[in-house]
Amino acid sequence: MIDLNQFKEHEQVVYLHDKVTGLKAFIAVHDTTLGPAAGGCRMWHYDSEVEALNDVLRLSRGMSYKNAVAGLKLGGGKAVIIGNSKTDKSEALFRAFGRMLNGLGGTYISAEDVGISVEDMEIVAEETKYVAGLSKGDNAGGDPSPFTATGVFLGIKAAVKYKFGQDSLEGLTIAVQGVGHVGYYLCRHLYEAGAKLLVSDINQEALSRVGKEFGADIVDVDKILSADVDILSPCALGAVVNDDTIDMIKAKIIAGAANNQLARDDHGQALMDRGILYAPDYVINAGGIINVAAETRGAYDIDWVNAKVEKIYDNLMIIFERSVGENRPTNRIADEMANEIIQEAHKKIQQAQAPK
Ligand code: NAD
Repeated sequence: MIDLNQFKEHEQVVYLHDKVTGLKAFIAVHDTTLGPAAGGCRMWHYDSEVEALNDVLRLSRGMSYKNAVAGLKLGGGKAVIIGNSKTDKSEALFRAFGRMLNGLGGTYISAEDVGISVEDMEIVAEETKYVAGLSKGDNAGGDPSPFTATGVFLGIKAAVKYKFGQDSLEGLTIAVQGVGHVGYYLCRHLYEAGAKLLVSDINQEALSRVGKEFGADIVDVDKILSADVDILSPCALGAVVNDDTIDMIKAKIIAGAANNQLARDDHGQALMDRGILYAPDYVINAGGIINVAAETRGAYDIDWVNAKVEKIYDNLMIIFERSVGENRPTNRIADEMANEIIQEAHKKIQQAQAPK
């Protein structure tokens, strides 16, 4: 079932169907107050169109919040292509998607997300300019994962400073769930900072790489959340904090790259009640979208990217302080901060447009 209330906040929701290639997709533009809506395109074997629609509505709102707190002049949007990313991809399908983006006239800028590779987006880029996250061309920013990892590393440092009152990670134990693109680079930062690593993954090759390179101890996938560590860094799946897991978490800080780490919003309060400091996912993992955003500004500027990624530390500090000061969970504070930024910009636009 679709909860129609979900549409209230969205500016535009489009259903795309290309009869020749079979492309079926939704694009949701949540808010363009700060700029064109930007957010990745996900390809997923949804059981139904309703499921895909629910996902795109939720994800696009999350992008508005992420882009706002990251200080980007971008609104929030997202696309979902209904299909199996292993069997249903074709050049014609991505070309059709690119042509359909042109129909939105730049209101939405796409990029990679789950199930979509840089190569896929490069096909899209042959049909439209409304795409980023590319590895070829003058403005290309390349793989966003190292930037996401750097942001998460700085976010962990902010959380450690706030919770334990120290700048150094030397000797702290950190459990990293998932050592894929982001997890690998994160482990390297943490290892170089002197942390002791516990890692889990379902991919043995990825595990042995971080074991060998960073001396990480390998833990069973079903034991990583309950590991007796200082920090838990979810870098694989969403909804890792849920009714079944929350009581087993021993870490004092949760700070990782995964999107939607809380199964429900009220798990933020539950973490606070247990004395666990939670770094809101879309604030700490914004490094990747910052790198993508750099491509939308014209000439790609690495200094601009690094300065924005470094701000993740300060943004989290503000959220932690407000959370304690107002005795409300960090995830709620982050949502409010995002809304305040968007509302402030909205007010300025209204003032500028008001008759003199
Ligand atoms: P990835 O697919 O490269 O890595 C994820 C890793 O998690 C894989 O190695 C996979 O084998 C592992 N994994 C899957 N199920 C697992 C399980 N049950 N237990 C332990 N490990 C498991 O993805 P990524 O690009 O590294 O992204 C990681 C997370 O961060 C995702 O949730 C993604 O949405 C989020 N994220 C990524 C970026 C980015 O720049 N790549 C940006 C923002 C958010």
